[in-house]
Amino acid sequence: MDYLETLNPSQRAAVTAPFGPVLVLAGPGSGKTRVLTYRIAYLIGVLGMRPFHIMAVTFTNKAAREMESRIAAVLGNQARGVTVGTFHAVCARILRREAEHLPFDANFAIADTDDQRRLVKSVLQELNLDPKRHSPNAMHAAISRLKNEGYFPEDFEPTSVGEERVRQIFDAYQKRLLASNLLDFDDLLLWTRYLLLHVPAARERYARRFQHLLVDEFQDTNMVQYDLVRLLGGHHRNIFVVGDADQSIYRWRGADYRNVSRFEKDFPDAQVVMLEQNYRSTQTILDAAMAVLAPLQGKHPKRLYTDRGRGEKIVVQRTYDDRQEARYVVETIATMIAGGQARPGDFAIMYRINAQSRVLEEAFLRAGLPYRLVGAQRFYGRREVKDVIAYLRLAHNPADEPSLMRVVGVPPRGIGTKTLATLRTVAQRAGLAPGTLLLHMAAAPADYQSAFGARAFKALLPFAQQLAQWYEASLSTPPVALMDMILQAVGYKAYITDDTEEGEDRWNNVEELRRLAARYEDEGLGAFLEEVALVSDQDTLKDDEDSPILLTLHAAKGLEFRYVFIVGLVEGVLPHSRSWEDHEEMAEERRLFYVGITRAKDRLFLTYPEERTWYGYSEPTEPSRFLDEIPHELLTGNDLERRKEAVAWAPARWEPEPAAEKVVQRFKAGDRIRHPRWGEGMIIGSRIRDGAEVVDVVFESVGLKRLDAALARLEKV
Ligand code: ATP
Ligand code: MG
Repeated sequence: MDYLETLNPSQRAAVTAPFGPVLVLAGPGSGKTRVLTYRIAYLIGVLGMRPFHIMAVTFTNKAAREMESRIAAVLGNQARGVTVGTFHAVCARILRREAEHLPFDANFAIADTDDQRRLVKSVLQELNLDPKRHSPNAMHAAISRLKNEGYFPEDFEPTSVGEERVRQIFDAYQKRLLASNLLDFDDLLLWTRYLLLHVPAARERYARRFQHLLVDEFQDTNMVQYDLVRLLGGHHRNIFVVGDADQSIYRWRGADYRNVSRFEKDFPDAQVVMLEQNYRSTQTILDAAMAVLAPLQGKHPKRLYTDRGRGEKIVVQRTYDDRQEARYVVETIATMIAGGQARPGDFAIMYRINAQSRVLEEAFLRAGLPYRLVGAQRFYGRREVKDVIAYLRLAHNPADEPSLMRVVGVPPRGIGTKTLATLRTVAQRAGLAPGTLLLHMAAAPADYQSAFGARAFKALLPFAQQLAQWYEASLSTPPVALMDMILQAVGYKAYITDDTEEGEDRWNNVEELRRLAARYEDEGLGAFLEEVALVSDQDTLKDDEDSPILLTLHAAKGLEFRYVFIVGLVEGVLPHSRSWEDHEEMAEERRLFYVGITRAKDRLFLTYPEERTWYGYSEPTEPSRFLDEIPHELLTGNDLERRKEAVAWAPARWEPEPAAEKVVQRFKAGDRIRHPRWGEGMIIGSRIRDGAEVVDVVFESVGLKRLDAALARLEKV
């Protein structure tokens, strides 16, 4: 019980709140995650709930593991069996268990973004659509947007020719996924919602199973996730959600902070708890955070306060270019470590986009200082890692067509495009996925001899036999042994390593993957593949190393560090140029900066280069507008004096405003338009919302965009 004593009165009120809906709304560092964690401990330890009946949803797998270990620290073994994970991971588990009610098998694989794009591309080919008019990326974005809003192709009613085209592609894409026994990320949520809506027995089972539902970072849930919360918890109504609308930063993935007010509307009797005190940062850091957020706040801005005292001033450092900026970061860190004030692991360096990490990495390498780079693509995006995962996926789920297509020529085995086309046709005729047909072929080769030419047959058969063997082995062999078996059989090492350093590097990555797989001896191949498919940037952060961390602002969500650097604070980067014409996006950039600032416990360093290198060119920059909004008395650093003068003279900067009332709708679905930067596109939807005309446009260049028609200066063509 002594954990309750470490809480302040409002935190304790939240942790010990009576059953029923509870909404904890509070700023960063106020103990929301801590309260949610202790609520679980309280439910089990004090109220005697069985862990089996509790589900907690976190934002990353890493956060889930941390929560589990915190609860275990309080309750020990007694806490085993709580369901903790991201929405996607929890849904994947439910779907495997309930596959008999659904149009896919329990060993489904999860299609990554590459697979999804490749499928869309192949659908466009199949439908004979000109990829110049229907860019695969744009179509993929349109499909994902629809799925985020909760649509399966059947539910989506097109209102224009353009929308009908999207629906047709969406429909074919969805069929291709199912034929491959694949689900994309959005499907995990959509099918779970489908299950809970249409299979009463399942709905009842889960409502009875999960008697308490807790959700962290609630402001970043999307529509479908919100529906899941209502479906799973609507019956017993023991729903405990914590969040902060001002920290919503995943709009581009469909997150909608308005779910917070939806919750208040749907559960009007919810107990609302506000947490006032911040335990993380100094008052100086909190004051800067409030200043950045101020333009988004109404008449009653949120106050953030702490007992920690004012602390040191925030450093704003201007450098000549981004290399000098990186050097400044590394030197400052090295000096602080050398001075004995800090450990290497106390530092985090944050940036807006992944590409900004390169210059920083170079500076660390040059200084001989180890660092940790957070990012899933860096490892899981490597060719050799993708190859090996594709082999494992194929062994686990032979119907997985994207994986089959990936590995069939790796290493080359004489199976060419023509043979593959024949394989597809024969499989289609038999109503099977190509990989499944290969299994049949291995079992009864004679039956298939005539369907293929002699050469194709000769090339395919050995591969089919191997696949059959791997599939067989996958049912009983632990992941590592299976991996070894496959790599050995195909001679992968010899194929991927040449005598260069890069070759050695590649093989090291394969071995790293092998080490990861080794942790799944008990849980098995399916669990391993799922973990790999659902890995987020933050999950790649290694906690056991004492070195500075490089990460994007998005990946920093929920984390805290003693010393934080936010680099590259120039117009076009933060705020991102994409937000220049869109009020909502600009607000999101602001929140993103706010999230970054509030990760810092003791000190904050904000830096910007006067010149940046961009696609090999140098160009002068303009410091981020957000820097000007932080009161001078909070700041120090080489930029301060110049800044005081400059701001006195600076003309007011134009910022998109929400449009005035009374707008007319100028566009309708199907209209072709031109945008000053993105070129031509087609409107697929238009509506008046909050006094502005909001249109959805598919651009050939950049995919689907939701824009304020007036601000975006769209022209009809
Ligand atoms: P964010 O919005 O950034 O996710 P949060 O509201 O979830 O923040 P926590 O991460 O739970 O905040 O807590 C922030 C820090 O404050 C943590 O280090 C936590 O241990 C500490 N903390 C929270 N409450 C207390 C308390 N009552 N006494 C001491 N420390 C506390
Ligand atoms: Mg938190």
